[in-house]
This record gives sequence, structure tokens and C-alpha cells, in this order.
Amino acid sequence: MWGMMGITINQNGNPGLITTHMGHQPADFTDVRATNLAVVLRFVRTNAPCSRADIAASTGLNKATVSSLVAELIDRRLLRETGLTEHRIGRPATMIVVDGAPYAAIGLEVNTDHLTVVAMDLAGDRLLSWRRAFTGLGAPPPKAIAAITALARRAVARVHGEGRHVLGLAIGVAGLVDADGVVRLAPNLGWRDVTLREAVVAALDEPGFSVVVENDANLAARAEHRYGPYAGVANLVHLNGHVGVGAGIVSDGRLLRGGLGFGGEIGHIQVEPGGPVCACGRRGCLEAVAGVGALVRRLTGGTDPSANGGAGAAGADTTGADPAAALDLEPEVEDLVRRAQAGDAAVLAAMNDAGRHLGHAVSVLSNLVNPEVVILGGYYVPLAPWLLPAAEAELRTRAVAPDAGGCRLAVSTLGHNATATGGAASVLDSVDAGQLPLRPS
Ligand SMILES: [Zn+2]
Repeated sequence: MWGMMGITINQNGNPGLITTHMGHQPADFTDVRATNLAVVLRFVRTNAPCSRADIAASTGLNKATVSSLVAELIDRRLLRETGLTEHRIGRPATMIVVDGAPYAAIGLEVNTDHLTVVAMDLAGDRLLSWRRAFTGLGAPPPKAIAAITALARRAVARVHGEGRHVLGLAIGVAGLVDADGVVRLAPNLGWRDVTLREAVVAALDEPGFSVVVENDANLAARAEHRYGPYAGVANLVHLNGHVGVGAGIVSDGRLLRGGLGFGGEIGHIQVEPGGPVCACGRRGCLEAVAGVGALVRRLTGGTDPSANGGAGAAGADTTGADPAAALDLEPEVEDLVRRAQAGDAAVLAAMNDAGRHLGHAVSVLSNLVNPEVVILGGYYVPLAPWLLPAAEAELRTRAVAPDAGGCRLAVSTLGHNATATGGAASVLDSVDAGQLPLRPS
């Protein structure tokens, strides 16, 4: 039972990553209270509008406890009464909903060709969504950090200007990010050991809300898990298709991050031994043969094999690459879609190959973590009609379980906002998990 568990927020207060302790020590009262507040808040978020009696009936908490918990959540401005009542057998019941007005969570995506920022309120309404072109590769980290912090500052100012409190900021980066918010390695950005969290906190002047840096695919998976059509599915993967390819894996309802948070690097599974060189320096990685950058290079005259992996992890390797080649893939992808629709044989063959490699990689996921659904995101979304047939066939051939263990391939509906939306979702998930804000003054 929820009420008997203590709940702690893990390393560095990373939001939403909860561990439950069911040891022999009795949970102390404040833990139980915080846990029960979170139980009520989650119930209202997913079932609103609802009455106090509904909450009591569904959570198993007694009515007096529910009344007290709801009063506290209203006082903290997390819930509000709608003023509407529902008459049941003659007795009016006041309906309760999540209060969207006082708080906002901000998510920001750093990718090779764009920055995206999204703010969401507690009720799930999007307050802002901005996208900026970004010279991710080729710009030195200080210049990139200046662009990132400028966008973050603008979003914070907008939210504050609307009279809302910022609950937190989560930044998603296409790379390996450690628990301190240091981007250890981002081959497609040419970054190594960039102390992004520290820089953003300093640039925002110690903002008084949490700032977290995470892998981009992990945040996209959080967005799917909170807002997507498969929200709440306990075993779900978001496969982020950009220049790089990353997997955000939700397993048994929790993000699978691994020991140092470096899990999910599906883009560097070798699917073609002896294949083209990857940005990571190895050969035949998924992203080197089926990443959207690789597809675009292959189909837009980039026949020079040395063009593959031009964006080397070591800074010196990038000098030979044309950084513009990594910039704004959107028009290139639109062109591929047009050519595919026109039946261009080279494009159709390349999509079929890429789909087959994707299916291979998904079969590895299927064999290891048995996802219920793998959702293609990023630039894979517009390309999905041509990728999916080969991907489905390869998945079914390679997965050992019958019917690929029930694994479905789906297409994200969150579009290019998935990672940024997931940043906001991760902040809001931490509220759901019991990290409740204090009453705003
Ligand atoms: Zn690689």
C-alpha cells in the first residue's frame, strides 16, 4: 500500500526518480502525509473533475483524511474547487480539479540544429512553445551555453510575467549526461565534459528552482509517459530520431537510467559490421546507417564515404566536416518525404534499409526489456510510413519471443516538442511523486 511506504527523491533531487523503501523501520508521519498528498494529487490529475468522496472511494483513504489532504492541497494552490456540484442521491458534492494557474514547469531541448523550450502548467496546458535554430555543432560550448541560457531566461521571464511560479527547469541534451548535469560526451554536438547545469544555474542567478540536465531521449520518454497516446503504459520506449538516435526506456513505470545515467544509447549498437564510421568513432552503429543525418547525407549527394562520421567526438575531427551539413535537417527531411511520395527508387531503398536496421535495434530492446510499445520520434515521424514496414518485419524476424513479445511500433504525436515537453513533464512528475511546492506567497 502507498500509505505504508516511505518515499525519497534520489540523487541530487533529480525529479520524479523515486525509490521506495519497504524496510522494517516505520515510515515517519511527514513521509506518510507527503505520500498521501501526492496520491490525492495524482488521482485528481488523472480523474478530474472529482469529488472528495470519489477520492476516498478510489484511494482507500478515509473521508476525514481526504478532506484534510484536499484542504492542504488547495491551500498550496495545487487543487481548486470548480464551483460546480454534482448531485448524487440528493446530496451535492463539490467538484475538484488541478489548479493550473499558479505554477509552471519548463523544459528545454538542446539538439544539433535547434533549441526548443516548452512551459507546461500543472493541469497539463502548454503555456509556451518556442523553437530556435541553433548552431549546435561547430559552435564552441560557451557560445552554445549563452544561447541556451538566453532562451531559458526568456522563458522564465515570460512565466514570471504571467504571475506564475517556476517549479523547475529540465534541459535535455543529445548525449551522455551524468547526475551532476555534466554533459560527459555529446558526439553530435562535439561536446565533452561540458558543465551545463552549473553554467545555467549561474546564468539564471541561482534561480531558487531546480535545474536538471538529462539525456534528450530520456525526457522524450517522460513526455510520452505523461502526455502521449500511450501515457501510463508501464513499458514504453521513445526512439529519438535526429542526427543521433537515442532510446528513452520506461520499464515497469520507471525511467531506466542505469548506474551513471548513460543507458539507452541504442544509436551505438552495431547493426552493420564494417559499416560507415559513426560520430562516436566506431563503425556500423545504428545512427551511422539509420540516423536521420546519415539518411540525408546518403540521399543528398553525400556519397563521399569520408562524410560519414565527419562530426568526430574529438574536436580536431570536426575541422574536416561541413558543420552546415548538420544544421537544420527539417527542409532536408521534407525533401526526402517529397521524393518518397514521388516513388524515388533511391529514397525508397534507403528508407527500407534504414527501417530494417531500426527493426534490428528494436529487436534488441524487445529481447532485453520487452517493451509494450516503441514510439518513433523526432524526424522519424514524417519518415515513418516508409520506415515502418521493414522495421516491423525485421523486428518480428529477430525477436525471440512470439509476436516480438507483444511489442508494437508506433509514431509519436508529440513531434519536435517531445524532449522539451518531457523536461516539463519530469518536473511535474516530481510534484506527483511528493515533492510539493510550498504555498506561494
Ligand atoms: Zn556510434
